[in-house]
Amino acid sequence: MNLRNTADQAFVRETNLSLVLRLIHNQSPVSRAQMAGITGLNKSTVSSLVDELIERRLVHETGSNSGGAGRPATLLEINPQAGSIIGVELGVDFVSVAVTDVLGNILWRKREDARQEDGQEKMINQTLQIVKEAITAGKRKNYHFMGIGLSTPGTVDVDKGLLIFAPNLHWHNVPFVRIFSEQAKLKVFVENDANAAAIAEHLFGTARQCQDFLFVFAGVGIGGGLFLNGKLYRGRNGYAGEIGHSPIMAEPSQTVCHCGNRGCWETYANQYSIIQRIQARLEVRRSSIIPKLMADQNAPLSIPLIKQAADAGDREAIDSFTEAGHAMGQGFAGLINIFNPERIILGGPLSMAGEYLLPAIKETVALHALPEINKQVEILLSPFGPDASLIGAIAIVVDDLLAHPAKVERR
Ligand SMILES: [Zn+2]
Repeated sequence: MNLRNTADQAFVRETNLSLVLRLIHNQSPVSRAQMAGITGLNKSTVSSLVDELIERRLVHETGSNSGGAGRPATLLEINPQAGSIIGVELGVDFVSVAVTDVLGNILWRKREDARQEDGQEKMINQTLQIVKEAITAGKRKNYHFMGIGLSTPGTVDVDKGLLIFAPNLHWHNVPFVRIFSEQAKLKVFVENDANAAAIAEHLFGTARQCQDFLFVFAGVGIGGGLFLNGKLYRGRNGYAGEIGHSPIMAEPSQTVCHCGNRGCWETYANQYSIIQRIQARLEVRRSSIIPKLMADQNAPLSIPLIKQAADAGDREAIDSFTEAGHAMGQGFAGLINIFNPERIILGGPLSMAGEYLLPAIKETVALHALPEINKQVEILLSPFGPDASLIGAIAIVVDDLLAHPAKVERR
């Protein structure tokens, strides 16, 4: 046998191993016979692949199906104890770190406010510090780490492990993978926050069976993860999905976006826009419980505080969310017309006010999206809410595990 054939066979084996592992992840609990039926592989090949996955402790047997005729078949599922994963979400004004199992169940977490004004080095060091805490906490519980996923706003070169440019952080060319792998001695992956959240939605969330959906990540900025034809769409250079910077208006008087332009969609619909709407209302002395809440809690104006006011029935808070929801809906309508998705999922910090935003988003979409496309779209909130991109950071590690089960590391 020549080397070429051996290499081909190894490649086929790894591809099939990944195929079976993905299937178990997606359809579990599932039997060997069912997988043979779905994949078209013969039963003995499936059994041999499953044996290897069990040996690698990625999969385990879980009872049997008793329904139907014939002998009950043993069912398989992902072994939640396969290993632990560290997810890092780098926000613009916070840092969040979680340790989860391979199914995304949170075992440990910590979130700290961060100040982008303090500079890149300080914010990265703060993040590294929490990652080291996570590792120490995990080691104490005997966790074995498979890797670190990091989600960040901005354009990311996934292959080089590099943040190219984050307008909201004013950061350029940050070699995240090198920095974090040197410090943590683990495999590190980096991805744009909205892309990561879209992958999480496909692996663990509301889009498991969905081939065409858009994830809208809303917070300080608005980012999009475009999941098309069953795959994340990255565009020519890997930067697709910067939906927040779509120019929807270009009047000279409008707020300057962090990217330097005017008229970007996110400046009308991000969290600052909601805070500005409230400030404008308070300046004209509208009656609201917000100033009292701020005084009582000795806290600045924030989305959680505005949400609290809205929950108490405060008109100004509710109306501000509704206005922002209408502005969001304009962008959603454009996305629906362009991509004809099955679903649009809203997540990220602003989704905590989803109950106020969603009705307004849907109303505007109904007005602006083409009716025959719109009637097929479901607009919903991410089950991970404000944690969408944190779970996304976990998901990019799991996605690599599903793609390369034979290369799994545990440290
Ligand atoms: Zn912009």
